[in-house]
Amino acid sequence: MIKENISNVNEKIISECNRDKIDPDSVHLIAVSKTKPLEMLKEAYDAGVRDFGENKVQEIVDKFDKMPSDTRFHMIGHLQTNKVKYIADKVYMIHSVDSYKLAAQIDKYAKNCNRIIPILIEVNIADEESKFGIAPSECIDFVKSISTFSNIKISGLMTVAPFTENPESNRAYFRQMKQLSVDITNENIDNVFMNVLSMGMTGDYIVAVSEGATYVRVGTGIFGKRNYDI
Ligand SMILES: *Cc1c(COP(=O)(O)O)cnc(C)c1O
Repeated sequence: MIKENISNVNEKIISECNRDKIDPDSVHLIAVSKTKPLEMLKEAYDAGVRDFGENKVQEIVDKFDKMPSDTRFHMIGHLQTNKVKYIADKVYMIHSVDSYKLAAQIDKYAKNCNRIIPILIEVNIADEESKFGIAPSECIDFVKSISTFSNIKISGLMTVAPFTENPESNRAYFRQMKQLSVDITNENIDNVFMNVLSMGMTGDYIVAVSEGATYVRVGTGIFGKRNYDI
């Protein structure tokens, strides 16, 4: 089942790329495995997936050692500064940087384990009360403020678009994300790269791809519904 779901998602991504004349190699699928047991991650791995998204520090710690060493864990959930130390040596990329304090802490622990951690700025693109992230109007200043840290690599932007039954209603937000990344690129800030755009989930990843996503984060569409009670 997982294998079929993955090929299904990959096929949809490729056909959208063909339609929009986007290089399919520029779009990467992250299988969002939060709450899911190791066996399911291994099944996805066997189907070719190497990128997994988790939103809890504890789950990354638990799963990290049990997956093959070329597995890449992406931290996509809200990250508390006091927990950075547990994942600094494990996580491939942190998508959810939304404060100076958090960036400083990631820089510190990246230094401790002698690496440069790629990070994305989380943007609250629809200005939703319930969402984490930097307001679009504050992004450039925020990026500038954290650009001097030597052990983080600012690699792009991430957003969680509004929940919707109609993916088309998020197109404008995805387009604004792309424009924001272009605007930041045009600032020519040292140590700032905008090659990653992490956006699109099960309900709207096709629209996100057509608006320039380079990472789509698909959970339910691969692993089925999540049960938060267990
Ligand atoms: C859970 C989650 C996803 C995946 O959501 P689905 O709708 O199950 O595809 C993507 N991104 C983030 C940040 C998440 O927390």
